[in-house]
Amino acid sequence: MNDRTAKRIIKEDRYPYDANSPTQHSEYVCPCGKGKIVYEHVVGFGDFSAWIECKKCDKKYEIVMGCGYLWELREK
Ligand SMILES: [Zn+2]
Repeated sequence: MNDRTAKRIIKEDRYPYDANSPTQHSEYVCPCGKGKIVYEHVVGFGDFSAWIECKKCDKKYEIVMGCGYLWELREK
């Protein structure tokens, strides 16, 4: 699963008045469907991060960034 195949829940800009704003915040449905994958891009910093908000999927997968995708899940 990666950012192109996952179902996106939301995409929005957050913290519009922060020094390094905006932060582009996206959430996607995780593989089991009960949690989510969160991806944030702090535009002013050029900083990217992604994490799994699901206990089940967090045990099974790890996030790999780059490789042509914003993020990609790989089985541990
Ligand atoms: Zn899950």
